[in-house]
Amino acid sequence: MQPTRHNMLKIGITGGIGSGKTLVCQIFAQLGVPVYNADDAAKQLVQNNAQLQAEITEAFGSDAFINGQYNRGYIASIVFSDPERLNQLNAIIHPYVFADWQAFVDQHQAFPYVIKEAAIMLETDSRFTVDKIVLVYAPLALRLARLQNRDGFNLDDTLKRIANQMSEEDKLKLCHYVIHNDGEQALIEQIMDLHAQFIALSKHSNTI
Ligand code: ATP
Repeated sequence: MQPTRHNMLKIGITGGIGSGKTLVCQIFAQLGVPVYNADDAAKQLVQNNAQLQAEITEAFGSDAFINGQYNRGYIASIVFSDPERLNQLNAIIHPYVFADWQAFVDQHQAFPYVIKEAAIMLETDSRFTVDKIVLVYAPLALRLARLQNRDGFNLDDTLKRIANQMSEEDKLKLCHYVIHNDGEQALIEQIMDLHAQFIALSKHSNTI
């Protein structure tokens, strides 16, 4: 028997650090679209899910939590310089976020589409948890200029993170849609255009 196909679409929104994906998602949210932030959800789960905490402690040792609080600095010091360890951490957290996202999707079946926002999506199996992926794209110099106004901005750390991530050129090849947040092409117009396309697509989702 074929599984029942819902009309609701799942849209992924991703982009490099400072590309503007949070701003873009805020605008979609203003249009009434339910937005799930995978990075925030991961933080919540790491802080509150005892089973996940046990798995992280098993892999990274008892320093991973201090009095029940996630020791972000300690974990960051391990994973940021070691892609293997970062993969290991992501592999532990991912199934929990996946289940949480699934629950969010189930709760919002009445909507034409929902959005999952995640910094890392095209690089991992996370891309299979959505139907279509939008890349928010901005030139590196502009991203760095925008981020400079943010509290705790550190140029070296940011460049290191960017070097660890897939290049924007490769992401452009893998995504289905691009929002150019380059200060030249009007952002709201691009978002309104995609909004209309997604609503139309959800009405014909048997064909995607
Ligand atoms: P991160 O992955 O680091 O959280 P992000 O991709 O979510 O970044 P935002 O937080 O949305 O990016 O944007 C980075 C900064 O740039 C924010 O301060 C945001 O207000 C600003 N910004 C984004 N897009 C624009 C724009 N089109 N015009 C002016 N400022 C912008």
